Amino acid sequence: MDLEEAKKNLEEERRRLSGARADLEPEVEQEPAGGEAGSELSSVDQHPAEQATETFEREKDLSILESTDEQLRDIERAFARIEDETYGSCEVCGRPIGDERLRAKPSARLCIDHQREAERDLRPGLSAGNPGS
Ligand SMILES: [Zn+2]
Repeated sequence: MDLEEAKKNLEEERRRLSGARADLEPEVEQEPAGGEAGSELSSVDQHPAEQATETFEREKDLSILESTDEQLRDIERAFARIEDETYGSCEVCGRPIGDERLRAKPSARLCIDHQREAERDLRPGLSAGNPGS
């Protein structure tokens, strides 16, 4: 994988995710009481059903926001790995991740084998490599 291409892909991905995040954030962050939106019309007189729907929507948005943040962090890590010249190698076994995979997911940190393993285990924050052998 050409690093210039990788950077371009990562920048594109970051722009896309940042845009998605900017759309979501105002929905997720609650207006503080007496904020500009609630100065005249108080939010107290909402119907309970509407409120429940809103809560549900907000939780859904929040989980999307969290996964977007996670992806953005992956992208930042990928940029750091470009600087380290370790970009494109699996963080577990060090084998090349493969161009096809990197094009599909520029922030990929693991080769396909280890990605599958990580997804199967669903370990949050997979640690890089085993300490001590
Ligand atoms: Zn691997």
